[in-house]
Amino acid sequence: MAYKITHDCISCAACEAECKNEAISEGEEIYVIDPDRCTECVGNFESPKCAEICPVDACVPDPDHEEGKEQLLEKWYNLHPGETPAYTP
Ligand code: SF4
Ligand code: SF4
Repeated sequence: MAYKITHDCISCAACEAECKNEAISEGEEIYVIDPDRCTECVGNFESPKCAEICPVDACVPDPDHEEGKEQLLEKWYNLHPGETPAYTP
């Protein structure tokens, strides 16, 4: 399941550099996550980095993007052609 950023976001930018899929960017009001690039950190880390680092807990699972671990890993492979995942579930 991709993550999303809620309106609790204070635009501190801390999460942007943590995302190895480059899924996070600055939006018009708050930071945003591109669901097509978010793998819940599958392929990179054991747990979602943005959620861990966010000081106001604004990074949360997005129920509109239900995906299993295999789907998320497939997404990771498509984002990182030729690379080996650092973490697989
Ligand atoms: S959960 Fe991981 S892949 Fe998804 S936006 Fe956050 S840091 Fe990026
Ligand atoms: S770390 Fe949290 S508060 Fe900071 S930009 Fe990301 S979502 Fe917003």
